Formats: sequence, C-alpha cells, structure tokens
Amino acid sequence: MKKEPQKADSLTQVVATINDRLRVPWISGARRFDLSLIPPLILLPVFLHIASWHFLLGIIVLTTLPLLVILYYYLTHRKKGRTLFFLSLAVFSLFYMFYLFIAEVVPRGDVNHIQLGAVTTGVALTVISLINTKRGPGYVRPHPTETHSTVTYHNPQSDIDAAYLNGARHQVVIANRVSSPDQTGESGTASVEPREGQKRNWCSVCKVVRPSRAGHCRICGVCILRLDHHCVWINSCVGQANHISFLLTLVLFVLTSLYGISLVLRSVCPQQSVMMALFYCPDVYNQHSTALCFTCAWYSSIVTGGLLHLLVLQLINVSYNTTQREVRLALREKTGRTLLWGLIVDTGVYCRGFRSNWVEFLTMSNALEPPNPKPTDLV
Ligand SMILES: [Zn+2]
Ligand SMILES: [Zn+2]
Repeated sequence: MKKEPQKADSLTQVVATINDRLRVPWISGARRFDLSLIPPLILLPVFLHIASWHFLLGIIVLTTLPLLVILYYYLTHRKKGRTLFFLSLAVFSLFYMFYLFIAEVVPRGDVNHIQLGAVTTGVALTVISLINTKRGPGYVRPHPTETHSTVTYHNPQSDIDAAYLNGARHQVVIANRVSSPDQTGESGTASVEPREGQKRNWCSVCKVVRPSRAGHCRICGVCILRLDHHCVWINSCVGQANHISFLLTLVLFVLTSLYGISLVLRSVCPQQSVMMALFYCPDVYNQHSTALCFTCAWYSSIVTGGLLHLLVLQLINVSYNTTQREVRLALREKTGRTLLWGLIVDTGVYCRGFRSNWVEFLTMSNALEPPNPKPTDLV
C-alpha cells in the first residue's frame, strides 16, 4: 500500500494469517478451515479436462501434474510443514474418478450390475479403511506405566537401537514396561528428567522416554510407537496402531483401481486388450466423453503405479520386520543388508523369519490398550 518493497516471506505470512483466521461454523464451535484443501478440488477437474482435448495435451498434463505435486511436496513436507493438500488430492481423486465412472462409463452400457457393485464396494471399503487408519498411529504416552510396545522385546543382543548402542536399552525397556511406578523406585512422570542411560531415547519435545522402535514425528510434533513413516497422503503418521489398516487401505485402493481401470479401457477401447488399450487406442479422442475416460484411466494408472510401488515396499518391510524409518537409518549408517538393487533392505535386528514377522505385525496393535488418545482431528 505504501509502495515500499515487500519482504520475501510477506506472501507466506499473509497466507498463514488468512489460514489461521478462516473459520467455519461447526456443531462443537467454529473450526479452522485449511486453504490447502481447495486447490485439488479445482485443479484436478480442470487439468483432466484439458488433457482430454488432445493426446499431446494429455502427455504434457499427465507428466506436469506429478511434477507439480512433487514440487509442492518438497516445498511443504521437506520443510516439515503441515498441509491438507495431499489428503485432499487423494480423497478427491478417489471420489472424482468414481463420479466419472458413474457419469461417463456406466451409461455406455458395457458395465453390468455386478461389476458396478464390485467397484462401489471397493471404493466404500477403501474409504472405511482410510477413516480407520486416521484414528491414530499409537502415541507414546508421557507416563511410562501406560506405554506398551510388545513388538520390540525379543532378540536383545542384536538390537541396535540407539539406547542399546550406549548400553542403556535394558533401562529403557524397564522404564516402559513396569506395571507400577513403585517397581522401579521412581515416579516416572513426564516431568522427570531422563537418567543418564536413557538420554538417547529421551524426547525433549514430548518429555517422554521412547520405547524401542518409537520415533518423534517433526510434522505431527509427537512421539509415535513403532513409527513407520509420516504419510502426507493421509496427513498422519503410520505407527503401531494403524499400520495394518494403512496396508489394508493400500491393498483395497490398488485392487479397486486396477479393476476400475480395466473396466474403463474395455468400454472405451473394446477392440484392444486392456494393456494394449492403455498405450494404443485409435479414435478415442474423437469423442470428448471417451477421451475423458481414457485420460482418467491414465491418471489412475499413474497414481496406482505409485501406490503399488509403496505397497510392495511395505510388504517387503513387514516380511523382514523392519519399518521405513529403520530402513532409512540403516541405509544412512550403512548397517543394513541390501538385496535386489536396494529394493530389499534387511536391518537384521528384528527379523525372526517370514511367518513370525507377519504374525507379529498382524497382532502388534492388540498390545495397545486402552484406545489411543487423539491429539489431532480426523483430517
Ligand atoms: Zn517426541
Ligand atoms: Zn507424523
């Protein structure tokens, strides 16, 4: 207004202030409305419609879109910023693809009731599983008597957790497993400073001694039990309490998406096999409706390809009883064994054989009692 030169971060501050002040009326009182929810709702339909005008535009848009998303990821996630952009994009993509399936593909008459029912059930189950995943990853409680993490207390000799390296692992385990403060002879409250041996596992932000395999998420600002990673697509951490439902969400999404893509391609390009139709489908751009369906099939294939890669990595990690966080640490410190050009990373710490690893993974959330507190909202 005064025609004075603006500081470089002025715009960021303005957006942050608007974001903070923007509230919507809610039953339990006004709630903050995050502006990062909006762009996917506008950009995705616009980009997909432009991409369906011509196959060259399709190539440009479908390569630019992932690059823009990756750029935004580096601008926000790498700076440990919290955003609903990715969750909004993921959920809206799912619903928008389903809407176009109902509005554009089903009226063509090539999809029967059973196939429609299968896709609808797949979408519904994916959403239910996603909501279940968002219930919380399992937080490290301030009071040591309330912390349970049964997935870590075997194979102590090979445990290379930070606390074990400095000879303190035994103390950490005791501090988190005692049933009564009297058993350790100390109160164990959050305000108590860590003993000398516990300092490597002490989180100065949460004021807790973390059990083995727990980690502090700098985006969520809390310590998570058996932390796997912070997933921007669900805007939450993946930990001991929600890892199974996270994996289930991935499986349901990938299966539903692959089935939906095959139905779409069979409808818009019946003269070709499904795989061939994705790469060569003559006359598909003659009609806007078929071109839009074809473009959405491509968009869904790109997203599904990315998630299929993540699913494979997750299945490998569970089979070797490692978390994504432990894999990253092992690669950084060069302590793990890598196989298949780095696709498999075995940290060699918790692995007890394929079957035992899966049994441990599928039963680990049973150890979490009572239900976890929810410091954040569902979104
Ligand atoms: Zn913490
Ligand atoms: Zn997190």
